[in-house]
Order: sequence, then C-alpha cells, then structure tokens
Amino acid sequence: MPTLAVHGGAGRLDRRARRAEIDAALERALGAGFDAAGGGALDAAVAAVRVLEDDPLFNAGTGAVLTATGGVELDAAVMVAAGLRTGAVAGVIDFANPVELARAVMEDGRHVLLSGAGASRFGIDCGLAPIDPARLAGAARRQDGSLGGTVGAVCRDDRGALAVAVSTGGTAGKLPGRVGDSALCGAGFYADLAGAACATGHGEDFVRLVGCRRAVELLAGGMDAQTAADRLIEELEARVNGLGGIIVVDSAGRPGVAHNAPYMSWAWRTAGGSARWSD
Ligand code: ASP
Repeated sequence: MPTLAVHGGAGRLDRRARRAEIDAALERALGAGFDAAGGGALDAAVAAVRVLEDDPLFNAGTGAVLTATGGVELDAAVMVAAGLRTGAVAGVIDFANPVELARAVMEDGRHVLLSGAGASRFGIDCGLAPIDPARLAGAARRQDGSLGGTVGAVCRDDRGALAVAVSTGGTAGKLPGRVGDSALCGAGFYADLAGAACATGHGEDFVRLVGCRRAVELLAGGMDAQTAADRLIEELEARVNGLGGIIVVDSAGRPGVAHNAPYMSWAWRTAGGSARWSD
C-alpha cells in the first residue's frame, strides 16, 4: 500500500471553524490519490493536488487569492526522485490546474521552470485547455478571506517510487511577478531517493533556507520523516525566523508533518493507518 500525505496550507488564519469541510476535501484528495496510485507516486500526488485545486476552499487553482492589483498568479510544481526529474510553472493566469502544466514541463524535459505567457503558450501547445483569466480572478474575489491554504502532496508508492506535487496562488496581496517557494525546486518541494517533502507557509522563508532540499538531506542522513520534519521547522525558525509547515515521506513509507504556523491542515494514509490535523 502506498503512503500519501496531503496538506491544505499553513498560516496564521484560524481555519478550525471550517474544519469539517477542509477534512472532507483532504479525504477526497487522499481518495483520488489512492485511486491513481496504481500508475505510480507521481500520478497519486498529482491526482490529490488536482482535487484541491478544484476546491475553492484552498488557495490554489480555482480558489487562489488575489495579487495586490487584483489578479491571480498561480505557481505549481512536481518532482520525482528517479532521475531528479522536475517541472514547475510560475505566474500562470489562465489555467485552473497548473499542476498539470508543471507535469507537462517535466515530461517535456527541456526546461524545469516556465513562467507567465511562456507557460501558457507551452500549455496550449501541449493540448491543455486554458480558461479566461477573469474567471480565476472572479472566483478569487468571491472568497470570504478567511480561507486560502496552499495545497501539496507527497507519495511513496508500492514500488518505492517517491514524488511530490504542489500548487498555490501564493501569498495574498503579493506584488505582481512575485514567485514563491512552490515553483522553486528545493525550496517548496523536493524528492530524492531518501524521500519527498512539500512546504507551505511564508514562501520567502523556505526559499532562503532551500527548505525541502534540506528536509530530504536530513532523511538521507538517517532521520525518519517525522524527525526530519520537526528538525526542518526548528531550522526554519532558528535560521530565518520563518513561519510555515512541511509534509515529508521517507523511503520506508513513513510520513511526517510539522509546522510552527498556528494552523496547518493535513492528512495522511499508509498501510499502518491514517491521521489528520483535526484528530
Ligand atoms: N508557500 C506559498 C507561497 O509563499 C504560500 C502558502 O504556502 O500558503 O507562495
């Protein structure tokens, strides 16, 4: 049985009032991920993230927050441990599922990160369907402001393959053009043979620390996923006074979750059981 962990963002907003809805969405994401896991860890992680991108509860895809000028600019990425293959997009304004665009960048293989108009052009050339940017920004304006968590997933499949997928609208009110950790390999996501990690929170902090690369390095040094997640968040606080959270899976299929932000929603399922933030 695979191990799949998902998160719905970390931050200062008290999201406990929406706990039942958030838990139900994370469960749906785990379910979609498990259904897709026969295809491998990447399929599982992407399927889980897609469900959350389509849910306006979360700051990704359809539910993304607005920039300082009232637009929507989405970042997303995927990575697999085998061959350190990765793909990412930044500043996407016209795709509701940028994680699919990121996957297409990885599969194409020429580049690891495409931004803005070039990412859109690439997506269209790959046969992915763009949407009117006004529809994404309109959906964002309808949010009540109390929600909005980045989404991510890490998976180790039955064959031992490891993958991560992440998607976000970035930080609310960000300057147009800002690119966060979720599009930057090693910062907001990373996968290598020792495990996979996905971050959420104040992206600039994870960029400075190259946080997810660091978490996987801790796994490679012999830590299990929970110990590495705890240590990474300690370092985030100690080194850059950072705020956020991280989900990790190690090569043995053990999950780990840690955060120093007041709130983080997450859930995981393994052969040995399951757990979620509200238990
Ligand atoms: N890390 C994301 C970013 O800074 C935001 C988040 O996780 O809520 O773009």
